[in-house]
Amino acid sequence: MNVPGMFGENVFNDAVQKETLPKEVYKALRATIESGKQLDVSIAGAVASAMKNWAVSKGATHYTHWFQPLTGLTAEKHDSFIEPDGDRVIMQLTGKSLIVGESDASSFPSGGSRATFMARGYTAWDPTSPAFVKEGTLYIPTVFVSYTGETLDKKSPLLRSMTAINKQAKRILALFGIHCKKVSTTVGPEQEYFLISEEMYERRKDLRLCGRTLVGAPVSRGQELEDHYYGVLRPKIAEFMADLDRELWSYGIPSKTKHNEVAPAQHEMAPVFSTTNTAVDMNMLTMELMQKVAARHGLVCLLHEKPFRGINGSGKHNNWSVSTDDGLNLLDPGPSPENNTLFKLVLAAVIKAVDDYQGILRASVASAANDHRLGADEAPPAIISVYLGDHLGAIVDSIVKGENYVPKVALEGSIGVPESPIFPKDATDRNRTSPFAFTGNKFEFRMLGSQANVSDPNIVLNTIVADAFEKFADELEGSPDICKAADAVIERELKAHSRIIFNLDGYGPEWEPEAMRRGLLNNKTTADAVPVCFEDKNIEVFVRQGVYTKAEAVARANIQLENYTKIINIEALTLLQMVRQDIIPAVSDYAAELCANVAAKQSVNDSIPCNTERDLIMKLSEGNDRLSALAVRLEDILDGIVMSEVIPASQAMAHEVIPVMEEIRAVADGMEKITSSEYWPYPTYFDLLYSVK
Ligand code: ADP
Ligand code: MG
Repeated sequence: MNVPGMFGENVFNDAVQKETLPKEVYKALRATIESGKQLDVSIAGAVASAMKNWAVSKGATHYTHWFQPLTGLTAEKHDSFIEPDGDRVIMQLTGKSLIVGESDASSFPSGGSRATFMARGYTAWDPTSPAFVKEGTLYIPTVFVSYTGETLDKKSPLLRSMTAINKQAKRILALFGIHCKKVSTTVGPEQEYFLISEEMYERRKDLRLCGRTLVGAPVSRGQELEDHYYGVLRPKIAEFMADLDRELWSYGIPSKTKHNEVAPAQHEMAPVFSTTNTAVDMNMLTMELMQKVAARHGLVCLLHEKPFRGINGSGKHNNWSVSTDDGLNLLDPGPSPENNTLFKLVLAAVIKAVDDYQGILRASVASAANDHRLGADEAPPAIISVYLGDHLGAIVDSIVKGENYVPKVALEGSIGVPESPIFPKDATDRNRTSPFAFTGNKFEFRMLGSQANVSDPNIVLNTIVADAFEKFADELEGSPDICKAADAVIERELKAHSRIIFNLDGYGPEWEPEAMRRGLLNNKTTADAVPVCFEDKNIEVFVRQGVYTKAEAVARANIQLENYTKIINIEALTLLQMVRQDIIPAVSDYAAELCANVAAKQSVNDSIPCNTERDLIMKLSEGNDRLSALAVRLEDILDGIVMSEVIPASQAMAHEVIPVMEEIRAVADGMEKITSSEYWPYPTYFDLLYSVK
């Protein structure tokens, strides 16, 4: 395969733009993309025409405005290029059709920000993310806003947050005499996923309706041997991954790393990082392609955060940094960070932002699915803290304590074999237990769930860091001795926010009480995490940075709670159905067979022992009675919930519904263990996790 030759072949990228657009048009378009200049509308016709010709040459017959409504998924409506011309048709895409599309917004979530009678929504072209051709359609990345200008998607606030950080970061750089065209944030999202056999998947209602197993006894061999992580790829998996890479590369997605993850049947793909909004679009496309490619291989790709109880769930580490258009990474500590005032100021801004707005950062990754993962064995707890590692940790420590920093760690390592080269050591070790870890020249936010839209945490990160930059710039602009003034700000802010720094084991039992002592938030469920978004301080930061209006911020929090409530409701109803229609009847049938066996034995000779059967019959029958009673209880609780009252409804889901679902599961899983596998109605964890060769 000629990878350089096929990379990006389906994308209307810079190279294609240069080749197909008139010179002046190309220059104007690049100015918009590279330095955030307002798009010159007069060029739209020329761009549309070139884009259409290119797409048609790739076999496209349709185009779509591709957007990311508040469902968190992508949405598309296809229009053909045809335009009647007498008896015939011509293929056409006008500048206007490229720039705006009208769409009925009433069937997308709006969180009450828009009355249904005001149904008009508009999609508007985002030229900063390249268009592409997929399955005969030209995909044009767009933002989605209402008739009155409220944002109805994930992308417009992301772009606004990038504008905010661009503006404020430039002010910080200017303090140090550095000028550039544009500052952008960059993201490299590491995508974890499970692959299971399609045949097994089809037989599980819970996986099909909820994306996760609602019942299922643990398998005797889980992940305790630690032999899956980085293990040799099984042939079917290797074929899937090769096919996936080919697809991703054709769409210009720089898929770089692939490997087996910790849990059986779990894997990961990491791309090379890119500018945040393109990284988000690429990740949305990646998730879609993973599912499509899996189907071609008789597999199902599960993107849910916790498909299986008792083994690791899936996350999406959000590697985040801030860079200028000419490649200066503001989070690069350089050889001696202790003397790098700009770096220390940026670091202080991030630490301040994360401490001040830990609540909304946590809320940005909250979902019904991710609740099962955070704080379990495989993911950081729901408490936000920052890990700096030994080197930076010691520097920050000395600043906070007002001591002189003495470098003590040698920044060179050797693996102790004479033939092997000396390798430069990273400034930080890995700390997998921290939710927000400094890793060399970027922060890795590890709370994000595998199926989440990457926009959510990045909207928050960009906004809160922009806000800290703004405060610093306001204070420092005009200082006669900038380094001295900046050092004072750094010292003050690090002292004020040192509570958020935690360099030890975030999974250990000591951390939770310690975090409480420090006054850090620990909101374990979505129902408890999201309400902080209604607090004034947490709304005002978005308003100040021009990312959300108050109404938009409130609407988004409402949608998040509403979505959480609906998901738990679907799960509870699915569980009720499984228990009543499949599990109870299967167990009852098995018990009946055992009864028949006892009767048969007795009819031969009543001294033949039947203790095993009798004991099982008793346990299975008692279990079924318990399941029936719990099902009634669950139904009663659900009946009492008014779904439209999002706060009480979400509280009831978290603190009443889920505990009863847990009880049901415990009984059902206990029954699975003693029911003949011939009778059990579903593929077991063994079948699900170990059937792909
Ligand atoms: P790991 O976390 O597995 O060690 P790496 O640290 O090499 O892997 O990279 C993880 C991800 O971080 C990759 O997607 C990589 O492209 C991304 N990354 C590297 N540098 C940056 C940066 N400056 N900004 C954003 N992401 C980055
Ligand atoms: Mg990583």
